[in-house]
Amino acid sequence: MGLTGNASAAAARRTVAVRAAVGQGIVGEHAPVAALLDVHGIRAAAAALHSAFDEAGGGRCRVLHTFAVKACALVPVVRLLADEGLGCEVASPGELALARAAGVPPARTVLDSPAKTPDELREALALGIAVNADSREELSRLDALVAAAPTASALGVRVNPQVGGGSIGATSTATAGSKFGVPLRDAGAREWLLRAYAQRPWLTAVHTHVGSQGCPLGLLAEGVRAVYELAEEINRAAGRQQVRTVDIGGGLPVDFSSDEAGPDFGAYARLLAATAPGLFDGRYQLVTEFGRSLVAKSGTVLARVEATKSAGGRRIAVTHAGAQVATRTVYAPEAWPLRVAALDALGRPKAGDAVPQDVAGPCCFAGDLLAAGCALPLLEAGDHVALLDTGAYYFSAHYAYNSLVRPGVYGYAVGGGAEVAFATVREPQSLDGVVAESGGAYVAGLRGLG
Ligand SMILES: *Cc1c(COP(=O)(O)O)cnc(C)c1O
Repeated sequence: MGLTGNASAAAARRTVAVRAAVGQGIVGEHAPVAALLDVHGIRAAAAALHSAFDEAGGGRCRVLHTFAVKACALVPVVRLLADEGLGCEVASPGELALARAAGVPPARTVLDSPAKTPDELREALALGIAVNADSREELSRLDALVAAAPTASALGVRVNPQVGGGSIGATSTATAGSKFGVPLRDAGAREWLLRAYAQRPWLTAVHTHVGSQGCPLGLLAEGVRAVYELAEEINRAAGRQQVRTVDIGGGLPVDFSSDEAGPDFGAYARLLAATAPGLFDGRYQLVTEFGRSLVAKSGTVLARVEATKSAGGRRIAVTHAGAQVATRTVYAPEAWPLRVAALDALGRPKAGDAVPQDVAGPCCFAGDLLAAGCALPLLEAGDHVALLDTGAYYFSAHYAYNSLVRPGVYGYAVGGGAEVAFATVREPQSLDGVVAESGGAYVAGLRGLG
């Protein structure tokens, strides 16, 4: 395969772990789908991120790396990354609650959602969490809150640099008409922003997040350059360094097509340092908000093949992993292709000639396909499939279609003798849990209305 270095080690750990997960019954008849996380892989990604920015800035760059919680909204994952020196980027009361449950301090937490309620803003300011206003209205709300009570929060504005989109519309946030942030290039917008900062000495941060998967590095860097130049302009106009923090968002894309390429934090940090050198010279506190690039490569969904059939000349393997764990892939397969690995009944790589097969999920709609015409050794009932690189935005963003239970999530570590230790990240949801979430406490609630 020509695998090199870290990538081959990660693939080797995964191979051992999926086999152990089957062997130890983490996946079996009673639990036909589960998710696995490579603890070593996540730690290594965090370390790579730190060293990328340290090296690009020649050690002068001050940076707080935060983890975009939505990418893998699981408390032990947030805690693991906090142990590796990361804070959190949160975008909802739920994500903030997870960050707090993980013990991430307010001073290392950034709140960015486009629809924050007055209560959320008040709580964030009371806690001292950094907040980036997403709109002019939100900035007025901050005006009132700042006037009402002192806050330790670093406050900024999310700016849409309007540098354009990448190959996936749904994750391109810096298009001319994006719903996010305050547009920078609309008529009068830059002047409005300069005035907004001039009138508010407490606005000390600027924020942008150009986009996620599908955005080339050059586009991300252009967006960052635009907000850096805005910060410089604000500071020149103020005659002092009013803007001290530049939050550059996340968005580093991941290669889902092989084990070979991991997200290259080094290349991105070097490009940023070349595009906006002033960001790295120590005058600014940089904040990053990476999500997918920190965890995608370290996650695997493992599912049993329940049945196989042939219909209309197509071979179909019906598995227990479908839209509930791979929602984007099922609904937008062109934008979100996943690699599927065929494993035998014991969880070992399946041998045999590759045959085109549809790999289907358990949901009751015809489009619940993980892969169409995928060339794999012929799957049989009792075999397994592994969905690779699913650590971000897959099982952690469960979709409750068909009331399928949220699968269990387990972290793994592989020892020197290839022994595998597992730790529970999240139990599989119980059927009682499904009922409770589905109004079980209000069984007669509608009858009472007449
Ligand atoms: C989703 C999001 C991120 C993380 O994006 P990735 O592509 O997962 O790195 C960071 N910041 C904001 C504001 C986001 O919405």
